[in-house]
Parts: sequence; structure tokens; C-alpha cells
Amino acid sequence: MGSGFAGLGMAIQLRRRGEHDFVVLERARAVGGVWRDNTYPGCACDVQSVLYSYSFAPNPDWSRRYAPQAEILDYLLRVARDEGVLPHVRLGREVTRAAWDEGALRWRIETRDEAGRVEVEEADALVLAAGALSDPVYPRVPGLERFEGPAFHSAHWDHAAALRGRRVVVVGSGASAAQFVPAIQPRVGTLTLLQRTPPWVLPRRDRARPAWVRRLARRVPATQAAVRRALYVGRELLVAGFRWRAFGRVAEWEALRHLRRQVRDPALRARLTPRYHIGCKRVVVSDDWYPALQAPNVTVADAGLAEVRARSVVGTDGVERPADVLVFATGFRPTSSPLAPLVYGRGGRALADAWGGSPRAYAGTTVPGFPNLFVVPGPNTGLGHTSVLVMIEAQLAHALACLDHLRASGAAALEPRAEAEAAWTRAVDARMRATAWVAGGCTSWYLDATGRNSTLWPDVTWRFRRLVARVRPADYALLGAAAGVPNAPGVALPAADAVARGAARA
Ligand code: NAP
Repeated sequence: MGSGFAGLGMAIQLRRRGEHDFVVLERARAVGGVWRDNTYPGCACDVQSVLYSYSFAPNPDWSRRYAPQAEILDYLLRVARDEGVLPHVRLGREVTRAAWDEGALRWRIETRDEAGRVEVEEADALVLAAGALSDPVYPRVPGLERFEGPAFHSAHWDHAAALRGRRVVVVGSGASAAQFVPAIQPRVGTLTLLQRTPPWVLPRRDRARPAWVRRLARRVPATQAAVRRALYVGRELLVAGFRWRAFGRVAEWEALRHLRRQVRDPALRARLTPRYHIGCKRVVVSDDWYPALQAPNVTVADAGLAEVRARSVVGTDGVERPADVLVFATGFRPTSSPLAPLVYGRGGRALADAWGGSPRAYAGTTVPGFPNLFVVPGPNTGLGHTSVLVMIEAQLAHALACLDHLRASGAAALEPRAEAEAAWTRAVDARMRATAWVAGGCTSWYLDATGRNSTLWPDVTWRFRRLVARVRPADYALLGAAAGVPNAPGVALPAADAVARGAARA
């Protein structure tokens, strides 16, 4: 389910292993996930493209250090096409229900197309790859429906809405606003930013990749592989800044220096200075955010949105501000997946009920009571410091190792033991404690309804990769097992790669 980097990544891995019996269900009319949906002006990735790309499909031709959205989407489409997975994609099919059939030991997945036609797919395994940042959140304020001008979310940019000379109000100051505000500021009449919480901003230092670098990367791929490795290691070191306060202060010093250099007015600088520890919210990486906020047609208001009227908005400071166009840069709610209420595991239990408002999964991927279900990206696999594709690829490797394990064992299904998932989650929570991600003095979308950070991986990514690279047979229970298959905690089964080799021979 889902055709972003995770869903297409899984499809590619299956194809590469010679599998053909799989489909990718996509509710939209095109593939691409967040890179299809987010087309706002200035949209780009704030992780270097050499790293924000599949490890198995390097692209020597990135035009810039931080490639823009259209180029990332092109890359994803090209890789999917070259790998032959597009014929497996079924577009315009929204999943309305997925239930584990305990008799058949298979998933039954109901989908609906735009005309309301229902179809049922059956599958041995189900990969929930619908993304954490796929459903936009609008603030719940009175009067939204009364607004007479264009009003839209950054993730559903209305390109037909005229901005030239208009009075534009932007709600929110996260990573999305930081990209489109500088892009639209020169053409709007006025821009009012409703900023509730100023973000930490680090310099971006974006630049075009010279032709000779691209040529070299094409002719000697090892050069780009070396750059990727260096970027990977460099970004992993950033974790220290989120885990240990002393390192966090170094990162804050760098961000404050960036602020001092770019903002001369001490009063404005004070209003743009965050009052929480760096990393508590997603850090913004930008060289043009502060300059845009100081443009003569921009006003920064230290207020949230309280009410919308026909041609104006009212802030939480009680001030009414005129508006022709309203843009919500108010983010997403990754901790309450819209799919969780639609997925039913053993005993007819909904995933949303199993999670109880706080998603959790063994290896960030598998859930007790939900056989052969893989959630990618899953709970506690998000990142604030590097390319999320590192985590996605590690999760896909885990899912494939699980399938190999199943095949070798002769069982029909597998699910993590509840104790194994509990131990995994305890370890994640223990590592999370005292980090900026939970104790940094802010609220953020990283935290779920119970106050737990169920979004981020609280450590370096190589630790995650190592932990999930293999299936630990003792941590999984097998269902519909063939006679004689050991299936008890402590019974040693062959390691996953040995299992894979065995399966390949078979
Ligand atoms: P976000 O980080 O969740 O930011 C939402 C913003 O809206 C916050 O500033 C929030 O203020 C504000 N807000 C919410 N309700 C409001 C209200 N009623 N009045 C005023 N302000 C309100 O959302 P986002 O910027 O779309 O980014 C979401 C995530 O997408 C990022 O964290 C990142 O993971 C990803 N992203 C990545 C890139 C990239 O380059 N890789 C680019 C864009 C987005 P408070 O802080 O006070 O709550």
C-alpha cells in the first residue's frame, strides 16, 4: 500500500529477487508519495541528494547539492521504470479495509476506485507503505469555510491561485514554510507569517553540482559512493547534538551565529530566537528564510491562528489581519495514521486499537497480532538528522528477511512475539529519555497522544541497520507452521542469510 520511496522500494527489491506476484496499491492517480504531493514553490529536500536516494540506484546527475522536488520525483519514477515495477502499480485504488483471514492465513484487502467500485485483493503479506507525512493537518479554528479567497495546505498547493500582488497569510513556520515563503515572497503583495514558535535554523549552503563532478560521478561511481559515505557519517555525528546537551549547545551556537549574521535588527532577532533545545522540533536548514522575513513586504506576527473571516484572519493575539490568500503550512499528524483504523489483525482487532494512540512495532516494522504485516516507515523509524531512506532500506531488508525465514520454515505467517516487541519498545524509550526529542522543552509532531515519542529513532542509524538486518527466530512466532519446524523461544534457527541461501537453492 503506497507508492512512495518505501512502496516502490519494496517492489524493486521483490523484482530483483525474481518475484512477480505482487501489486502496489496507490490511491492517487500517479506514483511518488510526498514527492508527488508536495509541489509548493521552493520544494526541495534538506538532505543532500547524493544521500537522499536509494543506495542501490545512485544518480550521478543531481543538478544541485539539494535537488528540487521535480528532480527527486523524476529520479523515483525513472528508477521505478528502469526496474520494471510500474506495471505492478494499480493507481486510483484506495484501501478501505485490510483484514487478516485467520482461516486462509492471508490478508483480504478491499479497495475502492474513484467511481466507488470495490475490489478485493488477497495477499500473503501486506506492506503498509503509506507514509507518515501523507495526510495534511489544518488547524481547527472557526470560520475556515467562510474564507472567500483561495485557502490551501502546503502539501496540496493550489497552483491556479494568483499570488502576484495579493495579501497572503501563511500559518506555520516549519520546514515547509521555510522553503516556500522565500520562493513566493518576491511576487506577493504582502506576506504575513503567523509564527507561533520560531524554528532553529542551520545554514544550508546549497549549490549547483558542477558538470565535472557529475561527469566524474558517472565515469567513476566510486567517487560519488565515497561522498555518500562521508555525508552519511557526518550526519550521523549530528545525533550527538540531540542526545547530549553539550553537543546540542554547539549546534545552537552555529544556528545563533547564522541568525546573527542574517538578522541585524536585535528586536526581530530576539523574536526569531527559539526558546527550546535544538532538535526538539525538526531543525530547518535554510539560507533564505531569515532574509525573506526581513523583506519590506513581510510581517512576522508572533501569534497562532484563532479565527478565519471572509477576507481576514484573527490571530491568538486578537489582531485581525487582512488576507486574500491563506496558506496552511501546518504539517501532518504522523502518530495517528489514517490507515491504522482500517487494518484488522488476528481476532478482528484494529491496528489503531492495538496501538491505542501510541504506535509501536518490533524492529520498527512488525506488530504482534498482525501476521505478515510490515509497516514501512514504521513507528520510531523517523529521523531528524539524516536521510530517511537509510531507515526505509533497512526496514525493507528486514521484511525480506522475514519472508525468507517464512519460506525456509514452511510456515504460512509470522508475527513478532509480544515480549519481543515490548522489549524493543522499552529499549527505544530508554534511549529516547533525556534526548532533545522528548526533553527539549517543546511540543512537536514527534510526540503522540500519550506524550510518547513514537516517531523517531533515537540513535545513530547504523545501530538500527545492524539490529534489524537479520531475523531473530526467537523473537518471531510462526503460524500455520509445517510439522517439525522449531517455533519456540530459544530454539536456534539458521540466520536469515543462511535461510535465504537455503530458500534460493530450494
Ligand atoms: P510542521 O513542521 O509540523 O510545522 C507546522 C507549523 O505549523 C509549525 O510551525 C506549527 O507551530 C504551525 N501551526 C500549527 N497550527 C497552527 C496554528 N493554529 N496557528 C499557527 N501556527 C500553527 O510542518 P511542515 O513544515 O509541513 O513539516 C512537516 C515535516 O515534513 C517536517 O518536519 C519534515 O519532516 C518534513 N519536511 C521535510 C522537508 C525536507 O526538506 N526534507 C521539507 C518540508 C517538510 P508550532 O511549532 O507552534 O506547533
